[in-house]
Amino acid sequence: MKQSVAMPVVGRILVTGGAGFLGSHLCERLLSAGNEVLCVDNFCSSSGSNIVHLLESGRFELLRHDVTVTLSVEVDAVYHLACPASPIHYQLDPVQTTKTIVIGTLNILELARRLKIKSLYASTSEVYGDPEVHPQPETYWGNVNPIGVRACYDEGKRCAESLVFDTVRQHRLPAKVVRIFNTYGPRMHPDDGRVVSNFIVNALRGEAIAITGDGLQSRSFCFVDDLVEAMIRMMATGVDETGPINVGSPSETTIRELAEVVIELTNSKSKIVYRPARPDDPKRRRPDVRRAAEILGWRPTTPLREGLKRTIVYFEDLLERGPPPQTG
Ligand code: NAD
Ligand code: UDP
Repeated sequence: MKQSVAMPVVGRILVTGGAGFLGSHLCERLLSAGNEVLCVDNFCSSSGSNIVHLLESGRFELLRHDVTVTLSVEVDAVYHLACPASPIHYQLDPVQTTKTIVIGTLNILELARRLKIKSLYASTSEVYGDPEVHPQPETYWGNVNPIGVRACYDEGKRCAESLVFDTVRQHRLPAKVVRIFNTYGPRMHPDDGRVVSNFIVNALRGEAIAITGDGLQSRSFCFVDDLVEAMIRMMATGVDETGPINVGSPSETTIRELAEVVIELTNSKSKIVYRPARPDDPKRRRPDVRRAAEILGWRPTTPLREGLKRTIVYFEDLLERGPPPQTG
């Protein structure tokens, strides 16, 4: 195993998009490891509810800020997650999505350059588009429709990756790229249209579960705690390790199977209905995680059923408490 020397960064850590689903778990994890955390977010696809419990910590600071505007702060490392991530959110204002990804990443790279600090970029499996190679290794260049409705996100993230790699080559910056595959868990927003949250909320309310397409399309779902562990390990790699590294579950599930498991685990009477497929919806997606195993010594450990049970408990509690807060 070729694992890089793992040197966790401890200090004042900037997390952009820290109020979002993944970001809030990452902030929590960094605080529990003894760091100070500066969370930067403009709440465009989240509300403060994910991080309100962290405000009590004397080591947590929140800054309402849009990453398309330059940022001048003093930190020891930065995790750059700011970006709407669900198709509903990123297609709402697609031009703004591209600006957030490209200009936001440029601004964070500039900050990292000035401070000479490590930075980690949350890229996505969407850089592979509707893949013709399965499972997807990092060496695969992808199959993306550059003018379709998903392009603002897919091409934005591809451009952000190239910005990171060019900056590393030009300025020898210790920057890192992880390609995150579908991740789920507590604090997903119930209205952002992602499949796990949609199916659980529908099942708990006894509403129809709507599969878009024939349900034979697949995804590989990773539980959020496993994902955060991978990000921390990536940040801890040596300065020469840029990636990209796939982080996600190697266990593939069709959307139909997912609907059936959710109905079973929630004991729901919901019926499955079928709606037209989404445009450019990738048909299959599964990461080749050999590089993550070799370099990070990482593999997800939470089985899908276990992670779903924990997510269901979260949504049961949320729905009992009443309507969730609006985003923005
Ligand atoms: P999320 O929407 O819950 O969180 C994103 C956060 O970024 C939100 O709090 C949002 O308000 C903030 N944000 C958006 N635009 C911003 C801007 N211009 N300035 C400041 N803050 C801004 O999404 P998530 O699932 O937590 O995703 C986080 C990151 O991980 C994203 O970069 C996403 O592309 C990437 N990712 C997530 C997944 C997944 O399955 N969750 C998969 C692949 C990649
Ligand atoms: N999907 C579905 N019903 C829903 C939401 C999503 O059938 O209520 C499907 C969607 O068409 C896609 C898969 O589930 O094939 C994953 O969708 P999601 O938006 O969660 O993630 P992404 O497409 O970005 O991987």
